[in-house]
Amino acid sequence: MCAGVRLRQFIDLGFTPLANAFLRADQLQEPEAHYPLQVSQCEDCGLAQLTHVVSPEILYRRDYPYESSVTQAGRRHWQEFADSACGQMALTDRDLVIDIGSNVGFLLECFRDNGMRVLGIDPSSNIVRIAEKRGVETWDEFFGPHVVKRILQEKGKAALVTATNVFAHIDKLRDFMSAVSDLLADNGVFILEAPHLGHLVQSLEFDTIYHEHVSYLSLKPLLRFFDTCAMEVFDVQERDIHGGSFRIFVSRAGRYPVRDSVREMLAWENEAGLYDAPVLAEFAAKVAANRSALARLLHDLKHRGKRIAGVSAPAKGMTLLNYCHIGPELLDFVTEKSRLKIGRYTPGMHIPVLEDEALVRHKVDYALLLAWNFAEEIMGNLEDFARQGGQFILPVPGPRVVARSRTARHAASSPIQIREMQWKSVTRS
Ligand SMILES: [Zn+2]
Repeated sequence: MCAGVRLRQFIDLGFTPLANAFLRADQLQEPEAHYPLQVSQCEDCGLAQLTHVVSPEILYRRDYPYESSVTQAGRRHWQEFADSACGQMALTDRDLVIDIGSNVGFLLECFRDNGMRVLGIDPSSNIVRIAEKRGVETWDEFFGPHVVKRILQEKGKAALVTATNVFAHIDKLRDFMSAVSDLLADNGVFILEAPHLGHLVQSLEFDTIYHEHVSYLSLKPLLRFFDTCAMEVFDVQERDIHGGSFRIFVSRAGRYPVRDSVREMLAWENEAGLYDAPVLAEFAAKVAANRSALARLLHDLKHRGKRIAGVSAPAKGMTLLNYCHIGPELLDFVTEKSRLKIGRYTPGMHIPVLEDEALVRHKVDYALLLAWNFAEEIMGNLEDFARQGGQFILPVPGPRVVARSRTARHAASSPIQIREMQWKSVTRS
């Protein structure tokens, strides 16, 4: 990001396959590419980034199986994003909003409902087809100068450009920002949202590290980076999706008053020690301890004859399974809602992916929640499993078994009420 070359590696998760490279049965015997999964911090600007970057052509130009809008919490999040952006920026009817890495178009739909003209850019052909079917105009492209030229010719300049959970995927950020800048109207705003390094470190969310996430963002390096692009961060907000994210508002320098939130977040980052080697070394040691503890718990349950399965198969879950060496000998299967993954096998560990109903059908005792960031909603959705006596294992920050308490068992089952229920933690002694 700052073109610095002094990188200090602070965590090594070994060699893993790509987190979204789910396999068909006929591919299981073929060799599978593994790539080093290590994170370093730039000693000059403080940006945490992968030591080894995999080419985007390998990462995204396949049957990319991630659909961003499958959970209720996800939907609520995009609605709030669009509504608050429209309110805050006084966007006018027919203003152009461009979402980079727009996936199936859920965020853009929310902007369109607010009266904006919208356009999505996404390089995964199968996902673009879904977005188009949903009626959200989406171009099947990698974002860059060639796309910007075409947008300017056909649609004009953008009042707002958004990139949610995309910025951290990009290797050549300077080229990216210069294209965004060309696309923005004079007072236009770029909003980026990404998981924050601070939450990764403090909550041991090591599984958010995978090859698609080239960088692990925090504010300090971004302030410096945007400054060198003649852009300015004028606001920053925290959001609790994906284990703790932040939303940054960027414009050309001097266009908007800079809010106190910018200074406050910077102070918090420094206080948390995000740029201190000993703090990051301690993080790595705790992650390794968590791996041992989780493996111990699963092996112990297995020895006691329990059936265990994984619930949901997000990219982060693949880091967890591969790093902790959790395979079909421990998990009978993992379940998924996304039909793009059902019927396939997890990369590296080759665990079959089934639909959620399999938990009840196969009388599973313990469900390992791989998408722990949506734990409440998922547990709420698996009423039948819980009623049958099924218990949940949360893997991060440390493994713990969670069962619905007796008092909560008869409570109503809407997702909102589930959120307020008590979950009794029965950590093993
Ligand atoms: Zn740097």
